[in-house]
Amino acid sequence: MEKTPNTSPAIAVSACLLGRPCRYDGSSKPSDAVMQLGRCYKLVPICPEVTGGLPVPHPPCEIVAGSRPVRVMDANGSDVTQAFHLGASRCLEQLRDADCRVAVLKSKSPSCGSGAVYDGSFTGALVPGWGVAAQLFRDAGITVLDESQVHRLDVSLGPARS
Ligand code: SF4
Repeated sequence: MEKTPNTSPAIAVSACLLGRPCRYDGSSKPSDAVMQLGRCYKLVPICPEVTGGLPVPHPPCEIVAGSRPVRVMDANGSDVTQAFHLGASRCLEQLRDADCRVAVLKSKSPSCGSGAVYDGSFTGALVPGWGVAAQLFRDAGITVLDESQVHRLDVSLGPARS
């Protein structure tokens, strides 16, 4: 029997939101709302930090608030900026290859955060801003949402097809 081509639009998704244990501490952040998207969209899991070469686990990392160009440090004082940029650009290639126009990314992360990220003090304080990968995707014209904004998908991508 001939296979029906999968015509569902592709959406990039932070792999930790799909339950993959790729966070800095080896945990995941599964989101039911995000996993449900797989019923109507083709989900393309990405993890910019792993793709950039950071091991799991690794020390927590934060963007240095106000740094231009953006600098990312880990909690031990090591500069990990290069790995973050490398992971972001490799993931952007993945998005382009899969023709993703939207990415649903984990909030607050120094890679994936959208609209607010930790401020570099490792105290849990947030500042307005975007993760390194989230910003790169936006600059490339990709709509970035976080896991609490999946209801906006119809606006960003059109109604889901089943
Ligand atoms: S880089 Fe993004 S996808 Fe990877 S663990 Fe962090 S928040 Fe999740």
